[in-house]
Amino acid sequence: MVPRSDALVNLSSLLRHAPGSPSDVEAEGLLVPSAEELAADGLRVAGPLHWQLVVRSTGGDDDYLVDGTVSGTVVMECRRCLEDVEVPVEASFVYEMVYQAGKTPALTLVEAPLPSDEQDVGAFGDVDEDHLLFGHPEVDFGPLLVQWLAIEQPLTVLCQPDCRGLSIDGVNLNEYPDHVPAEGVEGKDAKDSASSPFAALADLDVESSS
Ligand SMILES: [Zn+2]
Repeated sequence: MVPRSDALVNLSSLLRHAPGSPSDVEAEGLLVPSAEELAADGLRVAGPLHWQLVVRSTGGDDDYLVDGTVSGTVVMECRRCLEDVEVPVEASFVYEMVYQAGKTPALTLVEAPLPSDEQDVGAFGDVDEDHLLFGHPEVDFGPLLVQWLAIEQPLTVLCQPDCRGLSIDGVNLNEYPDHVPAEGVEGKDAKDSASSPFAALADLDVESSS
């Protein structure tokens, strides 16, 4: 399978329902999210996102199931020293997909009604869970992949477990661990003649031994 830089998946073979047509569509690729997509989800990435998914026909006329994963390296600031930290993140997802021709130009996540609205659910038939609505055989999963990855990124990170953080004047103490106000010089040189290992020899009268 050839890696690609988007997340477009063509489901027309599933939608035909012709005898002998496949009952699933597998796809994978490398997604390079647009700056707008990243900004919308407050995400920074260190490279393309790897994604793979399978869309299966579930037997109904226009009902499908997608499951897959998206993974990548996101960039976050260490919460102590504010240096950039690369964090590997992976998200997996499973959604029912509903096809309504021409209904929506883009793949749309339709969220289930809140419990408080549940008395109205009857009008929606059996679709009472979050599902994906698509209205065109070629589906762009890109924006949702970015969104799902953003949800999985940790709230905060440390560059290392014992990150020393910043000093009061903003110096990174990991790089300059000795950055403290100077308070005198330590390690006075205590060498003197009495401590010399050869001091005792001075008392020997080498000449008299002969
Ligand atoms: Zn840090």
